[in-house]
Amino acid sequence: MADFSGNVLVVEDDRQISKFVCYTLKNEGISCDAAFTGQDALGRLVSEPFDVMLLDLGLPDMDGTEVIQKVREWSEIPIIVVSARDQDKDKVGALDSGADDYLTKPFSAAELMARVRVAARHLRKLGERAAQMPSSVGGLQINFEKRLVYLDGAEMRTTPMEYRLLALFFKNIGKVLTTSHIIKEIWGVGYGNDTQALRALMAALRRKIEKTPATPRYIITEIGVGYRLVDE
Ligand code: CA
Repeated sequence: MADFSGNVLVVEDDRQISKFVCYTLKNEGISCDAAFTGQDALGRLVSEPFDVMLLDLGLPDMDGTEVIQKVREWSEIPIIVVSARDQDKDKVGALDSGADDYLTKPFSAAELMARVRVAARHLRKLGERAAQMPSSVGGLQINFEKRLVYLDGAEMRTTPMEYRLLALFFKNIGKVLTTSHIIKEIWGVGYGNDTQALRALMAALRRKIEKTPATPRYIITEIGVGYRLVDE
């Protein structure tokens, strides 16, 4: 599969199936990491970049649907659920919760690769959508491809965290982002609800982009809710 060489997270408690899936993916030049529980999967997802998640619905510690709901609070990663034939109801629930596709056990290597290819196409579409997103508000501009920020035409230095925060706002222009949503996006689910770190990061970003940080023109505070990047 020449057009996709990404990193797949395989969440499956059956070691034999997990081994078979990873072997098949690696044969096609795709990296594979295995998680054996739902908690393990969630932890991996926040600390490492993955392109696709293959998720068994029957996990020992939590329901696969619950994993999907948690992941969908902060990530658009394509999710392919894997279920046994007698779990049709669960499969529908998983798709309703935000899974992209499914595989029914037992499946062949060819079926597996067909599903992963479809998921990789979804991922590309997400990327295209990101590239087409409006990238300037007033004199503030972002270049997603080069990861650069400009203010009134001049390139502005940002730390990686400041860039991530600003990029998140640019992907949601005009939308209120809740404090907890931002924290999950920037630091991951394991970070809890530490608003202190977000306030410090926001202050640092505002000192760079706002002429008068006390009365911001770009990123507005929505008291008691979160923040919003103004829509012009
Ligand atoms: Ca299982």
